[in-house]
Amino acid sequence: MTSTSAPSTTLASYGWDQGWADAFAPHLADGLLPGRVVRVDRGQCDVVTADGTVRADTAFVTPHDPMRVVCTGDWVAVDPGGNPRYVRAYLPRRTAFVRSTSSKRSEAQILAANVDHAVVAVSLAVELDLGRVERFLALAWESGAQPVVVLTKADLVPDPVTLAHLVQDVETSAPGVPVLTVSALHGEGLDELVELVGSGTSVLLGQSGAGKSTLANALVGADVMDVRAARDIDGKGRHTTTTRNLLALPSGGVLIDTPGLRGVGLFDAEDGVGQVFSEIEELAERCRFHDCAHETEPGCAVRSAVDSGELPTRRLESYHKLMRENQWIVAKSDARLRADIRDDWRRKQAAGRAAGEAKRSGRL
Ligand code: GDP
Ligand code: ZN
Repeated sequence: MTSTSAPSTTLASYGWDQGWADAFAPHLADGLLPGRVVRVDRGQCDVVTADGTVRADTAFVTPHDPMRVVCTGDWVAVDPGGNPRYVRAYLPRRTAFVRSTSSKRSEAQILAANVDHAVVAVSLAVELDLGRVERFLALAWESGAQPVVVLTKADLVPDPVTLAHLVQDVETSAPGVPVLTVSALHGEGLDELVELVGSGTSVLLGQSGAGKSTLANALVGADVMDVRAARDIDGKGRHTTTTRNLLALPSGGVLIDTPGLRGVGLFDAEDGVGQVFSEIEELAERCRFHDCAHETEPGCAVRSAVDSGELPTRRLESYHKLMRENQWIVAKSDARLRADIRDDWRRKQAAGRAAGEAKRSGRL
């Protein structure tokens, strides 16, 4: 197969579909080669193409905006001639994981592109921290990917009733998110995960120790690992097989696993936070004030849902915490917003003082 003909099934196993083919058409007409970035390293990237993995320089597509830096998961157009080879363009991203201090500024760092499923690994070996789960879900929604929670190490919770309660707790904190339970040790629940990540591109998120590597190994399979080890021995392809951050899974689907993504926290995820707490956002539509903070405002539908027991207090507290945290992260690099928040805080303090004084002087 030549570089200008339609790409082979190799690319399909990396997620190439009709949509990408359509988007790539003008580049194909220019004689460029389609491929997916499996690794980026200081201005160079490894790209899987129908002709195998090639190394290409990203100088042409790396202007000053860090959001426009080629990243793992991008579909790119490589100039097949030339030495070095150059990436000439990348296709518009469907989704993106971004680490950023503010979406309005150019300090964002793009971590992975074109991710369909964000698998949030949560260990059942330690006490459930629902706030942490919500945080990862916010990040996932924000990227545009569909989150899924995988409760790992289920073998450590042998009592089925306890397990069912834990699953239910997570489900209440994750509207619209499938919750799976797996034990990599016993190989239980993996089929469902394999099926879910069997189409599209997935990433693994979660705290250190949550079981991500174990899941990755289970998904990638011993066969692939063996192949990689064998390649290492003869010294060939070490560069492209052992350090790539994007792998085609043997039973379909693609897995992206980068150090950057593993350490990611909550950044710039206000919309994502809203989606994690969709039931709160729905209630908020019935608050008397459209900018209700659900704190002390009269006619607050959210607080009355808490009072009636419809909404757990913990959910509202977690929502407030993530919203505040997110605001501060954004504000850190945005002086104007920071000033707004400070003024707002001062107003609230003053209002609180005035209310206190009024109360004391018997006017309320
Ligand atoms: P990561 O830091 O998220 O990549 O977590 P790891 O995959 O390295 O797993 C952390 C620890 O949990 C390791 O000691 C694993 O052996 C253990 N672990 C992973 N999956 C399971 C499981 O299904 N059952 C049990 N009992 N232990 C597990
Ligand atoms: Zn309200």
